[in-house]
This record gives sequence, C-alpha cells and structure tokens, in this order.
Amino acid sequence: MKTFTCKEIMNDASGCDMAFSGNDAMAVAGQCGQHVASSTDEAHKPMRDLMMNPNHTQADREKWMAWFQGEWEKKKEV
Ligand SMILES: [Zn+2]
Repeated sequence: MKTFTCKEIMNDASGCDMAFSGNDAMAVAGQCGQHVASSTDEAHKPMRDLMMNPNHTQADREKWMAWFQGEWEKKKEV
C-alpha cells in the first residue's frame, strides 16, 4: 500500500495535507478525485478544473494519469 497527500497528487502546486492510501495508482487517484470534486476552494481549483472543465480533454487527463503513475512507481510502499 502507498500513501499520497492531496498536495503530492497535485504536484505540490496546491492542494491540502489530506492523505489517501491504496494498492494501486487508480484507487488513490479516485479517492483524491472525490475529495477534489467535493471541494470549493481555490487550493483545489487546478485539479478540479482538470477533472471537470470541458476545456480539458481526455488527452490532458491521460497525461496527468501518466505523470501520477510515474510518481506512484517512485513512491515507497508503506
Ligand atoms: Zn485536498
């Protein structure tokens, strides 16, 4: 199992200190996605936009997922 904070998932650009744990990258991304979707503040806006804004294409989301998968590989198991 690995743990990422909201901040790490947002590449330290923004976010908060809430942590998400799971056995694969998609599980953690999904948990954070729900957390971000339920947020309304500026701190989560970049990720919220990526998820919800129709100006972001599927390709943008896939690029993000590829980045996160890389971060996932680098992260140590806990
Ligand atoms: Zn957060």
